[in-house]
Amino acid sequence: MRYSMGNNPITCPCCRHDSFQKDYRQLNSRGATFFGIDWANRNAIILVCEQCSYISWFLNEPDEHRR
Ligand SMILES: [Zn+2]
Repeated sequence: MRYSMGNNPITCPCCRHDSFQKDYRQLNSRGATFFGIDWANRNAIILVCEQCSYISWFLNEPDEHRR
């Protein structure tokens, strides 16, 4: 699946691939402390590059694009 944030297509910062698998991760209190912002109990969106497995993290849901 391809994704975009706003009008910008998301590409992998590692290999420039443009197809990802989406998953969700809970941001726990330890993670919130790490980021220094009160994001406890909020879900983060992760996109895993289908080519190199690099994980990109997002706090807002990216738009999906079906081929
Ligand atoms: Zn990649």
